[in-house]
Amino acid sequence: MGRVLIIGCGGVASVAAHKCCQNSEVFGEVMVASRTKGKCDALKARLDATGTPTAVYTQRVDASDAAALAALMREYRPDVALNLALPYQDLSIMDACLEAGVHYVDTANYEPPDTAKFEYSWQWAYRSRFEEAGLTALLGCGFDPGVTGVFSAYAQKHYFDVIRTIDILDCNGGDHGLPFATNFNPEINIREVTAPGSYWEDGAWVHTAPMEIKRGYDFPQVGPRDMYLLHHEEIESLAVNIKGVRRIRFFMTFGESYLTHLRCLENVGMTSIKPIEYNGMEIVPLQFLKAVLPDPASLGERTRGKTNIGCVFTGEKGGRPVNYYLYNVCDHQECYREVGSQAISYTTGVPAMIGAGLVMTGAWRRPGVYNVEEFDPDPFMDGLGKWGLPWTEDFSPVLVD
Ligand code: NDP
Repeated sequence: MGRVLIIGCGGVASVAAHKCCQNSEVFGEVMVASRTKGKCDALKARLDATGTPTAVYTQRVDASDAAALAALMREYRPDVALNLALPYQDLSIMDACLEAGVHYVDTANYEPPDTAKFEYSWQWAYRSRFEEAGLTALLGCGFDPGVTGVFSAYAQKHYFDVIRTIDILDCNGGDHGLPFATNFNPEINIREVTAPGSYWEDGAWVHTAPMEIKRGYDFPQVGPRDMYLLHHEEIESLAVNIKGVRRIRFFMTFGESYLTHLRCLENVGMTSIKPIEYNGMEIVPLQFLKAVLPDPASLGERTRGKTNIGCVFTGEKGGRPVNYYLYNVCDHQECYREVGSQAISYTTGVPAMIGAGLVMTGAWRRPGVYNVEEFDPDPFMDGLGKWGLPWTEDFSPVLVD
């Protein structure tokens, strides 16, 4: 039995903590440490009320202060730090792990607070330091990135000699009944969807304007939806790790109302991350917008419908063409009944727990910095079935043009 330090106490952390407490054989102890200790204490009360044998502790910490975090790690001595705070804190948490000798797992790659740009280079640069310290850093272990990388490794291992194309399709068919809300951290979400798009083709990035490429897709158990091509972080690692892949694209569904609100907010400058002065104070418009938007954690109760996230692969096996679609369908209300969160937090928190568990037990432990697709996908796929995200295979899927 091991000890995990969960950093952050938002929607995703809450699900991961519930799942660690369900998996007491692996997680004997959980400490939830975040900026606002009251949220950690409230979560502990909910976890304790489930009757879990896992012991839960809480602590206040500023994860951008590597020295303070390292001191907490030295005192608590966790086996694994599960970073479920914000992408801005990735590097300080990795620094703290190196200083205190703790394995590291996260779900989103580093993004500098003052530039809406996320990429792996900053974290991949830690490779030799983690190798020398004999520590594992597992990057991007949510759903996308995360499960989409595990799906790719699984497809590669079992069904393809070579994968030629990967289309990652992320559909949220849920409805919260509000005119506008984001289903995970609004600041991170809006930075992602207002950025220019891009995809990988023939060894290079192809750049697009934001939301320039639109397609329709009929999602199993959800129905037809419009989806838009976005830049997404797993494209960067899959392009390196899936040998022979020619094209990787990422599509996400958005409804008309969401897009109209977003366009409006952009047009009036509310999505800007450039600080402005207001009443003698410096504020960042997007951070102010986050403060007035609904907290994603509060959407759980009112969200109905399903998510469908998966990958469509094309390629060859034994000289024959293969098309393969691997996806998960998750029901918002079922998630809410189980852990009090909607499916977006659920589909991220469950894989985060599975990844932390595989590092904890040693099944996915290797000194260095790795993306999920670099490990054996089979134990992770077993975990998905066991912990609430079963998957479906389709060998004659509709392809995206
Ligand atoms: P939330 O905003 O709900 O939670 C973030 C938490 O981090 C909050 O509890 C916040 O504290 C805490 N936090 C922020 N700054 C600090 C700090 N300096 N020190 C300590 N704690 C801090 O976000 P989500 O739960 O929705 O998302 C969590 C992560 O998961 C994000 O990185 C997001 O990008 C990622 N994600 C990944 C997905 C995937 O599939 N890979 C999908 C969805 C999300 P406070 O409570 O005080 O605000």
